[in-house]
Amino acid sequence: MKTYLEPSRQIPIYAQKDVVVVGGGPAGLCAAIAAARCGADTLLIERFAYPGGTATASLMGNINGFRNQKKPDATQTVKGIAAEIIFALHRIGGLGDSPYEQEEYDIEKGELSYSYAVDTEKLKLVCLEMLIASEVQMLFHTMAVDVIKEGSELKGIIIENKSGRQAILAKVVVDASGDADVAARAGAPFWQVKKDEAPRMGDNLMYKICCPAAGKKDKLPGVKVGKTAIIWGPGGIVMNGCDAVELSAAEVEVRRRVYEHFDNMRSNTPALKDAIVVETAPMIGIRQTRFIEGEYKLTADDAISGARFTDVVAISSCPIIHYYGYRRYLEHEGYDIPYRCLLPLGVENLLVAGRCISSEQQPYESHRAMAPVMAIGHAAGVSAGLAVKQSVPPRKLDVRDVQRTLVAQGAELRLSEVSDS
Ligand SMILES: Cc1cc2nc3c(=O)[nH]c(=O)nc-3n(C[C@H](O)[C@H](O)[C@H](O)COP(=O)(O)OP(=O)(O)OC[C@H]3O[C@@H](n4cnc5c(N)ncnc54)[C@H](O)[C@@H]3O)c2cc1C
Repeated sequence: MKTYLEPSRQIPIYAQKDVVVVGGGPAGLCAAIAAARCGADTLLIERFAYPGGTATASLMGNINGFRNQKKPDATQTVKGIAAEIIFALHRIGGLGDSPYEQEEYDIEKGELSYSYAVDTEKLKLVCLEMLIASEVQMLFHTMAVDVIKEGSELKGIIIENKSGRQAILAKVVVDASGDADVAARAGAPFWQVKKDEAPRMGDNLMYKICCPAAGKKDKLPGVKVGKTAIIWGPGGIVMNGCDAVELSAAEVEVRRRVYEHFDNMRSNTPALKDAIVVETAPMIGIRQTRFIEGEYKLTADDAISGARFTDVVAISSCPIIHYYGYRRYLEHEGYDIPYRCLLPLGVENLLVAGRCISSEQQPYESHRAMAPVMAIGHAAGVSAGLAVKQSVPPRKLDVRDVQRTLVAQGAELRLSEVSDS
């Protein structure tokens, strides 16, 4: 490959913050809210024009994983900020019909079912209102493109946007980019399925249809909200979701295939006779890319046996949906996600949240669902906020403080009490 030696230059410092969260997806927006609620001066950086990540920018409007989809499902394993979002959507008529078979729990009693279909526009609004209420500063249309490091210590990030290239200094950075962009650029080790040599989860372009004649009780394919439904569209093309050339080629191909996909579906579904495509997702949905190597790597056995850890900061009870060739439901109420999975090896002042935490493929296919991802984000945000408050690096935090604060902020950790001993 030919190269060009980029000259060094002075760039403006856009901000100096306690906590910077990169990525406003399900994990990042919860992390930002949680850090700010801990009193940290918090900035959220997002490349799109709104929060929500895959839920909004890739139109994946079905939030799964508040409890096991099958029995045993008595424990609601995700609460906290993730649950607040669902309650807020419920209050403004922002929930639809989840396509997943599940036991329905009574939201009026404060209990959540396995999953919820959400109105993706109302989701943007609810998340924005919660970010504003928590006093998170937001910077949209902005990419984190590099890091500022001194030795192994992360001191901030470099951003690019319409205003140019700028620096942001931060005491703690939360990488919620989904792709572990910050961790990778900071030199933290990561793994990634690069070729189709191992089971991996592929991509889909989601699109939204409107069915003007659909009544409340009419069944529509996909994720139904009112007279609209979000459809799992064409995909299965992208091998490396961190390769811009591959992503561009995939966007061209899937967008050319949308109407063929829609017409095939419509010809087999009488309820869709007057349906039209109203929107394709701004970005093809990428399920997996990089996974950091952290202080602990969740294993298949952890997920299948329902491992419990003393440094639990979130729980996943979702099925492992692809790896075994069938939807493998968990035969327990959920496995713990330890704090160590959020701590990348070799880089200080950095926490990782969301789908790219330290994990093998099998548990990832469970905790990548948006409810556990939001719980992980909540935990990362609390940890970042406490690290700043206590002036210690995240790796040196006493995890019991994190657990206490998470429980105080409504999270479920299945700890009857977080003891001081
Ligand atoms: C096609 C598809 C179907 C799915 N189906 C379901 C389902 O039915 N139910 C369910 O619960 N989950 C589903 N998932 C999984 C779920 O959506 C993801 O695992 C989850 O959204 C991951 O959340 P995240 O916050 O870690 O990352 P993301 O949702 O990927 O969010 C990352 C955010 O970071 C931003 N970002 C990335 N890089 C940068 C950068 N360098 N600078 C600034 N911003 C950046 C992105 O724009 C994005 O907003 C699906 C995923 C896909 C792709």
